[in-house]
Amino acid sequence: MAERKKKRTIGRAIRLAGCAVLLLALVIGGMSLIKGYFILSPQVHLSVQGSQKQDIDAFSKYTDEGAVAMLGKTDLSDQIKTEGSVNTKVPGSYIVTYSLDYKGKHYTQQRTVRVVDRDAPELKLKGEDTVVVSRMELFDEPGYTAKDRCDGDLTDCVTVEQQKKDATTYRVVYQVADKAGNMAEAVRTLEIRDIVPPELELRGEEHMFVPRGDRFTDPGAVATDDADGDLTEAITCTGTVDTDAVGDYTLRYSVSDSAENRAEVKRTVTVYEESADNPNRIYLTFDDGPTEKVTPHILDVLEKNHIKATFFILKYSDEDKPILQRMINAGHTVGIHGYSHDYATIYSSEKAFMNSIQTLHDQVQKDFGYDAKVIRFPGGSSNTISADYKKGIMTCLTKRVEQEGYTYFDWNVDSSDANGNNVDASTIYESTTQGLFKDGNNVVLMHDSYYKTTTADALQKIIDYGHKNGYSFLPITADTTPCHHGVAN
Ligand code: ZN
Repeated sequence: MAERKKKRTIGRAIRLAGCAVLLLALVIGGMSLIKGYFILSPQVHLSVQGSQKQDIDAFSKYTDEGAVAMLGKTDLSDQIKTEGSVNTKVPGSYIVTYSLDYKGKHYTQQRTVRVVDRDAPELKLKGEDTVVVSRMELFDEPGYTAKDRCDGDLTDCVTVEQQKKDATTYRVVYQVADKAGNMAEAVRTLEIRDIVPPELELRGEEHMFVPRGDRFTDPGAVATDDADGDLTEAITCTGTVDTDAVGDYTLRYSVSDSAENRAEVKRTVTVYEESADNPNRIYLTFDDGPTEKVTPHILDVLEKNHIKATFFILKYSDEDKPILQRMINAGHTVGIHGYSHDYATIYSSEKAFMNSIQTLHDQVQKDFGYDAKVIRFPGGSSNTISADYKKGIMTCLTKRVEQEGYTYFDWNVDSSDANGNNVDASTIYESTTQGLFKDGNNVVLMHDSYYKTTTADALQKIIDYGHKNGYSFLPITADTTPCHHGVAN
């Protein structure tokens, strides 16, 4: 029994061994076959030239070194296909693939190129590197720019920090980083020092005019300082104005801030007195009034300046009487222009004209007890329009009015306010002041009729100009040397 069992075991072992040997033979044989096939088919060797992993700087030049394909000693490199490109302007990883197909087989190799941004952004400060301000709060950031070659405009990413260095110095630190973490920094120095003097400004005009005997009230000045604020209270004024003595006076206003920065301004005050002895005389004459709209304004300006002038009036209404009364009370000269201004009526005959003059004269005398002795011909004595109505009438009238005890006045300075309605005040000023002459009687033609509001507006400046330039303003009187154009009809 045992013998049979033993034989069976031996038999099974022999069979197992046989199988193993057969399997081994099959494996070895197969391998040989595969090995033989590879040995027989030709192999292409594809390799990357240079490094397979490359780091290059952004914006540097990238040149692909390519790959080489060899079949034994045969160079097949010209059959290599290259795929993928490298954008050196954009940081990142790029893969370049080299491939080759040969006899049904595909060969491939890769190169990894990393474009790296190593440049810091360009951070530029606008304005000065060192800025002096009176107070920290007055520092007005002049600005900055940050540009990165790879990331573009980074201005909005700039951080600004003020660092106190000592009591009077600050550092302003500007920082910016690009996406790759490259940092740029700039520093501005702030010096806190009050170097700006206060701003000192006159209230009122730089040159003021005061009639002798009038009161002068100094309008003062205003001072503000960038560090100390309102310094008006600290202004000192030297100099005085004696309004009883004619002359020019200088007032000096000065103020200092706490850092001893000083500011000074001055004002000239001219105390004047109108004098008939002054060889430079101005006679302001206003025709065609009175009007409620314009004449009171003119009277206001004249009153303020203590000046007397001459009004050649036309027919007036009851409502105008207070204006005329004011005129007379203030010492202005009321002259006669005529009951009518209508050329066709007044220049139709000697009688018609004298009637126009006399009627108004008598009314003034009746209403105000004022004997008006000076007249002005509508259109002036030189007018030629009168010839349309009566030849030679001006030749007769100029003699006739004198026989009747009147003195007639033309003008030798034209304010140009008759060139239109509401001529620009500056034009009236220019025209008047340019027409003035020294050493003589300047008789200025102006108007206070309804549309001459700008004449009143120009008046103050004209008066100031006259006083500045040594003229006296006077009213025409019977003693004034007349100004005549010369008769043309
Ligand atoms: Zn007139």
